[in-house]
Amino acid sequence: MTRKQDKFVPIRPNRVNMFVCGPTVWDVSHIGHGKTYVAYDIIARYLRRKGFSVFFLLNVTDVDDKIIKKAHDLGEQPLVLAKRLAKSFFKDMKDLHVESVNLYANASDHIPEIIDQVSGLLKKGLAYRVEDDVYFDISKFPGYGKLSHQKLEDLTVHRVDPDPRKKHPGDFALWKGEKPGEIFWDSPWGRGRPGWHVEDTAITLTYFGPTYDVHGGGTELIFPHHEAEIAQAEGLTGKQPLARYWLHTGLLSIKGEEMHKSLGNFITIQEMIQKVGTAGLRVFYAGTHYKSPLDFTDQALEQAVSLARRFRRAYDQMLLARAKIGNQKTETAAVLKRLDEARDDFFRAMDDDFNTPGALAAYIKIIGLAEEEAKNPKNKSVNAMIEALEDLGSIIGVLETGTVAQDRVAELVNFVFELRNELRSKRDFQSADRIRDRMAKLGFVVEDSAEETRWIT
Ligand SMILES: [Zn+2]
Repeated sequence: MTRKQDKFVPIRPNRVNMFVCGPTVWDVSHIGHGKTYVAYDIIARYLRRKGFSVFFLLNVTDVDDKIIKKAHDLGEQPLVLAKRLAKSFFKDMKDLHVESVNLYANASDHIPEIIDQVSGLLKKGLAYRVEDDVYFDISKFPGYGKLSHQKLEDLTVHRVDPDPRKKHPGDFALWKGEKPGEIFWDSPWGRGRPGWHVEDTAITLTYFGPTYDVHGGGTELIFPHHEAEIAQAEGLTGKQPLARYWLHTGLLSIKGEEMHKSLGNFITIQEMIQKVGTAGLRVFYAGTHYKSPLDFTDQALEQAVSLARRFRRAYDQMLLARAKIGNQKTETAAVLKRLDEARDDFFRAMDDDFNTPGALAAYIKIIGLAEEEAKNPKNKSVNAMIEALEDLGSIIGVLETGTVAQDRVAELVNFVFELRNELRSKRDFQSADRIRDRMAKLGFVVEDSAEETRWIT
């Protein structure tokens, strides 16, 4: 809104109400959607790490033109199609480790609130009926254009429904009268369904009231979607602002082109996770500031994936070192000071409008310290490294294990080592050593100690 960075002061101290525009569930989600939701996931994780109690609300648009059209093409009920694709979206979020969302709210579950909002806008004279349709009258809301910094007379309205019966070409639909064969609900204006923009404000008014702290979504939603949300909510409640802070994520492109099924460059979240794992993909996203566009190239992805592996390796080395050295008392003041500096760098970067590339750079410094430490590990610094890598790693989500496939491999390896331990307890050391040597060749190094057997990759 201000086109600059502002100091973050939530309405209530220590509480953050955050709403992010969720998916329209008419198709599977691609890695561009993944960029957006991982960005807000990192933001929510960070705010929580800083001590805020965050309520992260994400809506699911399950009533929409695209859903109706696709359902018609497939001969399916629109809400059935939407439910199926919402389920696939939730799986994507789970596999991406987007864990910070408190509530997913479906538009179709809030039809009464939507009808109330449209009625209220009609009563206030901010909306008008054209037969069974209801439109918002943008000329009646003086602030229209304040988020996208446009004046009413030079609005770019090509993205708004064309309808010659409207008073202004930029007026947008609040309620759409039933068309033959389409899904509908009863309303004071006859059967019909909500427009897109009013779904979100009905949801946020329900859970957050007239004003909340953070509104997020992709940059492409600024106009008309978010502009429309402001007009509806502020027009109806008379309270300003709808959201104190707006955060918009930059688009993801593929080798310079917009991702599109017709261009054959459409990559789903599931395909990518199967290919590179969750941690690699999250490092790839975090390598670019949330509001910047991100161009996907194989090279950039490979760099991120090998970085994620390096994080994991260094962390595992520290775990192994801890298991080896036990509680010996050793002095490591110099390295602890460098660790603190890197940790401060991480927080300074994140405090600066969630600068994840800066935070990653600080994390890499700690990884470097851990790799150095692994050569001659000392108890106190190893523990401090593990603590820092886990703490900061959990904000970006870089240490978590990735795909289902990786989890299965881990299970299988554990099983093989379980069998090996059984052989050892039966004093069949020859077979046990054979397994150890073979696994070592595959990159799974076994460490036996009195109390446990650990493996690292
Ligand atoms: Zn929205």
